Amino acid sequence: MDAAEAVKERLNVEDVVGEYVALKRAGRNYKGLCPFHSEKTPSFMVNPDRSIFHCFGCNQGGDLISFVMKVEGLDFLQALELLARKAGVDLSQYGRGSAEASKQKDKLYGLLDLAAKYYQICLSRNRHALEYAGKARRLTKQTLTDFRIGYAPDQGTALKDFLLKRGHRLADLRQAGLLSSYGQTPRDLFRGRLILPLSDGQGRIVGFTGRLITEDPKGQPAGRQGPKYLNSPQTPVYDKSRHIFGLHLAKQAVRQADKAVLVEGNMDVVTSHQHGVRYVVATAGTAMTLEQLRQLARLTQNVILAFDNDSAGLAATLRAIQLSQQVQATISVADLAGGKDPDELIGQGIEKWQQVIDSAAYAMDWLFDYYLKAHDPASALGKRRISSSLLPVIDQLADPVEQDHYVKRLAEVLDVSVEAVRRRNSQQPVRKLKATAAAPAGRDDEAALTDTYLAIVYRYTESRVSLPSLGRLELDPARRAVLDFVRSDSTPGSYDAVPESLLEHSEFVKILVFKAEELYGSWSASDRVVEAINLAQRLGRLTKRRSLQNLSKQIEAAEQSGDHATASGLLDQYQSLLSEE
Ligand SMILES: [Zn+2]
Repeated sequence: MDAAEAVKERLNVEDVVGEYVALKRAGRNYKGLCPFHSEKTPSFMVNPDRSIFHCFGCNQGGDLISFVMKVEGLDFLQALELLARKAGVDLSQYGRGSAEASKQKDKLYGLLDLAAKYYQICLSRNRHALEYAGKARRLTKQTLTDFRIGYAPDQGTALKDFLLKRGHRLADLRQAGLLSSYGQTPRDLFRGRLILPLSDGQGRIVGFTGRLITEDPKGQPAGRQGPKYLNSPQTPVYDKSRHIFGLHLAKQAVRQADKAVLVEGNMDVVTSHQHGVRYVVATAGTAMTLEQLRQLARLTQNVILAFDNDSAGLAATLRAIQLSQQVQATISVADLAGGKDPDELIGQGIEKWQQVIDSAAYAMDWLFDYYLKAHDPASALGKRRISSSLLPVIDQLADPVEQDHYVKRLAEVLDVSVEAVRRRNSQQPVRKLKATAAAPAGRDDEAALTDTYLAIVYRYTESRVSLPSLGRLELDPARRAVLDFVRSDSTPGSYDAVPESLLEHSEFVKILVFKAEELYGSWSASDRVVEAINLAQRLGRLTKRRSLQNLSKQIEAAEQSGDHATASGLLDQYQSLLSEE
C-alpha cells in the first residue's frame, strides 16, 4: 500500500469534502453547492462507496486528494502531506517522510540564505555590477539591502566552490536549484548576473532571479550569455504557482492601504518599493493561481492588476474574475496606457504610477471597455462577438444582482433588448470561463457532454446502438480509450471494477460509472437508448458549431485581406453547413 492509499483508507471522502462544502445526504451520496463553479442549486456530489466526488455542473471530479489539490491550490505531495497530518499517517514510513522532508527543507533554506549572502558580498566587491545596479537600474543602497540584491560572478563554479568549502553537499546544491544541469561537470546556474532573491511570505529565500548585465566588460559575444532573465527551477522550497514576489516586504503596506497591486515584472516591484509605493507584488508568469489570490486575499480584498501588455492583461483579468468568485476579492484593472511598464512610468515620476493605480477600473467594467474597443458594437457581427465574449463572464458572477446589472448594461451598449441578451444566454449552454483568452470557446461543455455520453454507453450496453450516429470527435487519451473499449463492444465483469485495459484511467472510469448510475440508473432501457441517440446528436451539433466558428474566422480574415472571392466561397460553405440538419 502506498501513502496515498493509506490516507484514502483512513479518511472518508465526505468528511474531507465536508470541511469545505456543506453536504446533505442524498440516498447513497452526499450533495452540496460546488466549490469550483458558482451555482444556486447543488450539482456537486460525493460518493462514499467509490470514494470520489463529481460535479454535474462543471464536470470536475476525482478522489479526495485531487479535491484537496483543487480546492487548496496544492500540488499532489502538498495535498498528501496535509491529508496525512489529518489522518495521522506517518509519511516517513512511505519513504517521503514529512519530518525528514521538513528537515531537508530547512537545510535548503539555510543553503539558499548563504548563497544570497555570498551574492551580496560579490556585488559589494564588483564595481561593474554596482555601477549597473546604481546607474542603469537606478537602485539605491537601501533598496539593494532591503531586497538583498547581489551579483553572481561570471566564473563557472564560484558559488559551488564557496558552498562546498563550507561543507555543503553537491546533492543539496543541486536540489536547491543552484547548479546548471547542462554539461558534464556541474556549474553555477547564475553567472554574470544581477541577483534578485525570491523570498516566501516569511522572508525566507526560496530561489533567485538573475538578470543579465548587458554591458559586459570582457566583451563576451551576446549569444553566450543566455536569456535576459533566468529563474530558479521548481524545487522543494520554491513553487512558482504559489510564489508571490515581494510579498514579505509588501505585507504591511498592503494591509495599511487595503489594496495590492499585481505587476508582471519583479524589477517593477523593486522600483515601486524604492519610490515608496510598497503595496506592489508580482507573480511569476501572467496567470494568477487560486493559491496566490488566497494569499493576497488574506491581506486585502482589493486586488489591482497592472499588466503592460494587452493580451496578457486580458487573460489575467479573465482568470482573476473567475478565481475571485471562489475567494472574497474584488479585482480591478489599472491601464498602463501606451504599453509602458511600471518601471518606465516610475522613471517619469512616481505620481504617474500612483495615478495609474488610483484610476484602476473594476474588472468587469474594464472588460466591457476592452471588448467594445475590439469589436464594432454597431454591426451585427460585432454585437455577436461582444455578447459571446462577455456573456460567459457575466454568467460566472456569483452575485445575481451584479449579474443582472451587467446583462442590462450589455443590452444597453449593444442597443438590443434585455430579453434578447437573456435568451442568448439561456440558449448557450453554460460555458466555463477559460483561463486564457486564446483558448477555443466552448470546449468545456463539449467535454461535459462527451463524458455524459461516454458514461451512458460505457455503463449501459443497450445504449451503444447510438454509436453509429456519433460524429468524429477529438478526444484526449482517457476518453479515446473508453470510446475504443465501448466500440469493441466489451463489458467489464462488474462495473465496480475497472477493466484491465482501462486501469490507466481508473479514476475517470469510476466517475463515468457513477455519473451514469446517478443520471440514468432509474431509467428504462428504451429511455436510455433514446437519450444516448440524443446525446450523440447534440455532440454532432457542437462539432458543427465549432466548424462554423472556424469558417467565420476564415471569412473575416479573407475579407480583411481583401480576398472577396475566397470570402464569398467560404460564405457559401458557411450557409450550406448552417442549413444542414
Ligand atoms: Zn461544479
